Amino acid sequence: MTSKEEKKRRAALVEAIVAEDTRKAIDDMPISLSNLGKLFDYLDVKLEEGCDHTPKITTDFLASINLSSEKILPWLQDQGGYCDCEILANVEEGWESEITKNT
Ligand SMILES: [Zn+2]
Repeated sequence: MTSKEEKKRRAALVEAIVAEDTRKAIDDMPISLSNLGKLFDYLDVKLEEGCDHTPKITTDFLASINLSSEKILPWLQDQGGYCDCEILANVEEGWESEITKNT
């Protein structure tokens, strides 16, 4: 059966699975979406001075809002963010739409 209705039903199913995965991913985050959004904004400004290829700006920002980078840095690295410019380039993309939706 590949009627239009069936296609629609499948699309809705896939969407629900993706939404469920996203929710789980958000639950597992060591940082809130709103703080993550603030981090990206901060990096956006600070990186105009250049990246020294360490996560120094990120670490400073997390300390400034009393978050421990101990759990957050490995989580960022998992997503390809090993230094400040990579965090902005590789991690922001994946979360941008969620941050816009949820904050
Ligand atoms: Zn860098």
